[in-house]
Order: sequence, then structure tokens, then C-alpha cells
Amino acid sequence: MPATNASVLSVKDLKTVFRMRGGEVHAVNSVSFDLAPGELLGVVGESGSGKSVTMMSLIGLLPSPPAEIRSGRVEFEGRNLLEAEPAEMRRIRGGKIGFVFQDPMTSLNPVFTVGFQLAEPLRRHLGLSRAAAKNRAAELLELVGIPDPRRRLSNFPHQFSGGMRQRVMFAIAIACEPKVLIADEPTTALDVTIQAQILELVRELRKGLGMAIVWITHDLGVIAGISDRVIVMYGGQIVEQGPVAEVFSDPAHPYTQALLETVPAVRGRRSEKLRTIKGQAPVLESSPSSCSFHPRCALAFNRCRGEFPPRILLEGSHDAACFLAAEANIAANA
Ligand code: SF4
Repeated sequence: MPATNASVLSVKDLKTVFRMRGGEVHAVNSVSFDLAPGELLGVVGESGSGKSVTMMSLIGLLPSPPAEIRSGRVEFEGRNLLEAEPAEMRRIRGGKIGFVFQDPMTSLNPVFTVGFQLAEPLRRHLGLSRAAAKNRAAELLELVGIPDPRRRLSNFPHQFSGGMRQRVMFAIAIACEPKVLIADEPTTALDVTIQAQILELVRELRKGLGMAIVWITHDLGVIAGISDRVIVMYGGQIVEQGPVAEVFSDPAHPYTQALLETVPAVRGRRSEKLRTIKGQAPVLESSPSSCSFHPRCALAFNRCRGEFPPRILLEGSHDAACFLAAEANIAANA
């Protein structure tokens, strides 16, 4: 199905497998979603739920082997990115699709100055001269709130604090004013004050540049604060998605409900006991033929163990992949 006019990025039936010595790991299983221009889409789920692998699959950042994209379509500007040649993908990455990862120390090159690393995409993707790239690099540092930007261009990454390095990563990611920015746990390693500053920066950048953002995180509080829509992933699948206010106030999938219950609630002076989800996220050796959550789901019944629950549209653009959610929806509409 082609991307709608309203989508800047459209992912259909994406399947990614890792071929390991002992067998296959089905890391991404039939993932489909659309991203609207200017939208901020949150992606949540435990470690191993397939969030990062999904995003790395669609921008061609997984090493192959062992990764293999078995099927799917990723439409961006009328092109299926899964069919793009490596050189074309390099042009798109960092140019029209930017990305920021969790740890800027492993993403920034320690032996090059920040100015060089900022100017490089400007020269490569936009063809700016050395002098123009340097000027733009200083403007970008200023845009992300780094004081004395022209002097800081000649500094190396280790001369910046953790929060400042993450700001530099955002500056590099937005240097070419991408249409889509993918941010993978960009604030997880930062303390809460710096995290708040980065989130404010993202709000401003999004407003100013109008880019669509995919924000991957474990932190449901961050998603509640900044996202328009949220995708909940489990076992390499989307188990629920919809407008963030709807999904968080009326979660339909037992996994989303359990995730929300793990968020610490502090009432008055007494904090409640921290809840956890018993068991572990699955490592799937084949395409799922049942509900992947059934070993951990308190509401599981026979059908869940033998049949795969499809995503059912509940209301508006809110959907969930659970037999009980589907039954409740039919009952509510009867
Ligand atoms: Fe639980 Fe069954 Fe729903 Fe899966 S389909 S989440 S096991 S009730």
C-alpha cells in the first residue's frame, strides 16, 4: 500500500531476522506504522522488544550478516528505502533522515573537533564551502544552546559535559534540516535536569523546523510529556498504538497496562512499592503463531496460546493486538 499524502514515512509489514549460529532470532515481526509531517511519535517497550532494531532496519544501519530484512516496505519521498543502494542510503541518512543515539561519546569521534564533525554533513550533503560550513556549524551550536559557539567549534568531544555532548549530537542530526529525526534513548544517560533541558530543546527545534520525530525510550513519563502518538512494542511487534492521551488513559493491551503500572507513583509523602512485570521479554526463534505476551499475561486463555491476535482498530486511530481488547470493543459497540 503506498504511503498516504499525510505520511512522511510509511512502514509496512517490516520483518527483520538475525541469523545466528544456533538458529534465527525474529527481532521485528510485521511492524507497520505511519509518521505524519511534524508529528512526534513515541516508541516504548522493554529492552529486547524490538524498538531500536526496527528503526535501525528502516535506515539500513544493521550489519548484514547477521541481520536480514525478510520483507516489508519503508516509503520515504516515494521511494522504498529497503531497495535503496548503500550510496543512496548514505545520502538520505544524515541528510533527510537524522538520528541521535543514547551515548554521544560512542557516536562522536573523539579525535575530531566538534566543529569538524558538524561541518562534515553540511559539506557532504549540502555542498557548502569550508567557510560557509563553519559559519553554519556555529549557528547550529547556538541553536542547541551552547554558549560561545564559535570558540567551542575547536573543542574536542571530551571537553564538553554529557548534556552538552548530547546537544552537539542534536546539532549534527538537524544540521541538514531533516524531514525525520530518529532519537534512540537520547536522554536516558542524562540526569533529570539536563534531560528536561534536552526535551525543551526538542520541543523548540520541532516547532522551528517542523520535522517529524520518532522518540524511542523506556521512559513513559517522557512520552506522556512530549509525544502526539505512541507505539507500544513487545516481542518485535506493535501491540498497541494510538494518540498518547488515549493509550495512557485507557490502555487496551495487558502489556501496556502492565508497563503503565510499573511507573512509580508518589502520593503525598509515601511512595508505593515499585511494581515490575514478571518474566522476561521473549527471544523469538520463529514468526509468532500465538500471542507473544501469553507466558506473562495474567489474563491469558487457551486461544492466546494457539492463535496470533491481529491488531484491531478500537477507536479513531487507537488499535491493539489482543483478543480481549477486540471482544471488549465488539461488546462496547453492540
Ligand atoms: Fe493476554 Fe491473550 Fe491479550 Fe495476549 S491476547 S495480551 S495473552 S489476553
